[in-house]
Formats: sequence, structure tokens, C-alpha cells
Amino acid sequence: MAERYEQILKDNKLSLTAVRLAVLQVLQDHPHSDAMYIFARVKKNIATASRQAIYNNLNTLVEHAIVREIKPKGKASLYETKVGDNHHHIVCTNCDQVSDTDCHSFAPCLSPTDSHGFAIKEAEVIFWGLCPDCQK
Ligand SMILES: [Zn+2]
Ligand SMILES: [Zn+2]
Repeated sequence: MAERYEQILKDNKLSLTAVRLAVLQVLQDHPHSDAMYIFARVKKNIATASRQAIYNNLNTLVEHAIVREIKPKGKASLYETKVGDNHHHIVCTNCDQVSDTDCHSFAPCLSPTDSHGFAIKEAEVIFWGLCPDCQK
């Protein structure tokens, strides 16, 4: 895993800092984490890691499309390393659990009825509801 991300960072001409690799490791193990969770995990291994460094790294990784940012309304941004497949999310309105879900067929959500001349690159769909546990 680590080697793969080292290569991705090199390909993007980004320096291989310990914090940056640690952020990617956390997201690999815990997809859909928010910055505070990532910070807490990274800090366990790298005591000098600052909250600002985590935010800066996340911004850089999102800019380079190495990490995807999801912004459920009213909640902190979530991050994941599953990028480029335009998958959607299902969020529990009660416990905030997040699951991935693919489109029914190949990226139908990239075909709006009227694109207004835009070259569409991405679509974001969030399904809201109650997860199985919260329905009990
Ligand atoms: Zn729930
Ligand atoms: Zn996801």
C-alpha cells in the first residue's frame, strides 16, 4: 500500500512527507473519515503532526485528485482514497454512518437532461436515510 501511494505522490510531484503518507494510510484503513479523526489517528504515530498540517495535506491531496472530499450538508467534510469512479454515498441521518454505492449503470448521473453547455466532470449524489441499526 505504502509503495503505491509513494508512487502516486511522485507521479504528482508531491514530496513524500511522513504526515502525508500517514494521512493516506488512515484513509485507506478508514474511508469517509473527517479531518479531526484523521488528525487523531496520525498524531498517535507522529506526535509533532499539527491540525493545520492535516488540513493542508488534505487540501493538496484533494487538489491533485488523490483524495476525494465529500461534503454532506450540515456535517464536516469526509475524505476517501476511492477516487475516479464517481461513486455515490448513502448517509445515515441518525448515526452519520456512510456507505459507498455505485450508479445503476455506467455513470448515468453524468448525463443531466440539460448540461447548459458545461463539460461535466463529476456528479455528487448523496442518499439520506436510516441505516439498518437505526431502523430498529
Ligand atoms: Zn444509523
Ligand atoms: Zn466513498
